[in-house]
Amino acid sequence: MVDVNEQETPKFRSLASKFFVFTSVLLGWVVAVTLWWDIRLHSFNWTKGSVLCGVVVAVAGLISFFTVRLLARPLKLLEAGITSVRQGKLEPIRVSPTGDEIEFLGDSFNRMIRSLAESHEQIRQYQELLEDRIRQRTEELQVAMQGALAASQAKSEFLANMSHELRTPMNGLLGMLDLTLDSRLTGDQRDQLETAQRCAYSLLALLNDILDLSKIEAGKMLLERIPFDIRSLMEDCVKSQRAKALQKKITLLFEAGTLAGTRVLGDPLRVRQVVNNLLSNAIKFTDKGWVRVKLGTYFREDGRLEMAINVTDTGLGIAPDKLPHIFDKFTQADSSITRNYGGTGLGLTITRKLLDMHGGEIRVESELNKGSTFSVVIPLDPAPVSTVESNASPEAEAAPVTSPGHRLLLVEDNLVNQKVVLAMLRKRGYRIDIANNGQEALHRLEAAEIPYRLVLMDIQMPVLDGLETTRMIRRNTHWDHLPVIAMTAHAMTGDRERCMEAGMNGYISKPVQLAHLIETIEHHLESELCAEPLAV
Ligand code: ADP
Repeated sequence: MVDVNEQETPKFRSLASKFFVFTSVLLGWVVAVTLWWDIRLHSFNWTKGSVLCGVVVAVAGLISFFTVRLLARPLKLLEAGITSVRQGKLEPIRVSPTGDEIEFLGDSFNRMIRSLAESHEQIRQYQELLEDRIRQRTEELQVAMQGALAASQAKSEFLANMSHELRTPMNGLLGMLDLTLDSRLTGDQRDQLETAQRCAYSLLALLNDILDLSKIEAGKMLLERIPFDIRSLMEDCVKSQRAKALQKKITLLFEAGTLAGTRVLGDPLRVRQVVNNLLSNAIKFTDKGWVRVKLGTYFREDGRLEMAINVTDTGLGIAPDKLPHIFDKFTQADSSITRNYGGTGLGLTITRKLLDMHGGEIRVESELNKGSTFSVVIPLDPAPVSTVESNASPEAEAAPVTSPGHRLLLVEDNLVNQKVVLAMLRKRGYRIDIANNGQEALHRLEAAEIPYRLVLMDIQMPVLDGLETTRMIRRNTHWDHLPVIAMTAHAMTGDRERCMEAGMNGYISKPVQLAHLIETIEHHLESELCAEPLAV
């Protein structure tokens, strides 16, 4: 085996010693020949022999001395320089002025060292520059990120306010239309008001779409996780679109295929939104024939339940080159669509984003003038049976309240909203008192001789807001069983949770719909009647 170290640092024999041996041998040979010649001629003499030997040794010594001076020393200096470069020291070496190739070699070596040192210096400067730039960019990025976060925060606040500001007047508008339509009208008046109501509802739908999309894009939309039944949700959706289909003389079919399970944990509101979007598009873009909704559920290997929905229609269809764009914001397949069918091109964008949030997907197959099939897959978690049963929908459980005339307290600062709710509930025989803010509400509750059976509570109010008022109500054990229902134009995700955390029992978002308001009040009155009587 070869020793690597030995190979790397071979042992050198001094140049001077080599020259010394070589010259000694040469001169020794000359002396030996001279002496041998003397012996043959019988003229040998010891003195001459000794002198010649001395001369040989002296000349050899001199040759090695000059060899060392002229050759070995400059080479040694060169070798020392190479060693110091190898150790990372980029310094020029001392070059002996021999005026020959060795001096030239030394100078070249020094030039090489100098340019190496210059490159090293340049690299070091570049490195420093790079580090500076990285530091600077990181700081800029941090500032930009803080700016973006602040902008996103501002956007969410703006959204929350917009949502509130838009829903408040819509509440007044729709409420008043609802009430007027509930009174005696001539045929023409009814027709005109119904048109106004349809316009107001489509404006509300548009507002909701824009707010939903902004919420999703701001990352503010969170999915709920509550138990619901997929099959009844689908049946509800189909039922709610039946009138539209009937109006257009289209057959609306619902088929439940393989159903591995129907009870799931998820966000029924958002699943309903997806189904309704697809269904209302199918009916909207079909002028004759049928629309068929198919539901299937399958268990996946990971234990989740996959909900598969197909909505097929025999309608307009979509041209192949338009298909990839129908999920883009504000995009419709054709410019004539808005003219003939209305719409904004937001429905499918929201649908796809909602499906993305669920980890689901949507596919579409379509043929122009033949029809389309939208296929959706939504993975959901199966719900424990008991949870679904205990959370069955209030509509299913609540028996209608047979004896209204209960005293309710409406806490609301907006005059139009007061008027709308007052008119809606008085018509149903309820006795309503109004408090303009939380403080007033607490006074009224304390002073009431006949106890209030339920409180409808706005959230954003001057003096004392709805959340704080509810917390104060909950701190008083007298009002343990008093239902407090939030009635708010704040419809952002998390608002419902905030209301529930404050101690409220229910939540109605504005614009308030007459039927929903009555249903909610009756449900809570019914539950409250089953609980302990109220003490004031
Ligand atoms: P909108 O319905 O408000 O126009 P959508 O985002 O829901 O917006 O739909 C985008 C476009 O996709 C529609 O304008 C229409 O051109 C096309 N589209 C959607 N569903 C269908 C369908 N079932 N049949 C034909 N075209 C459809």
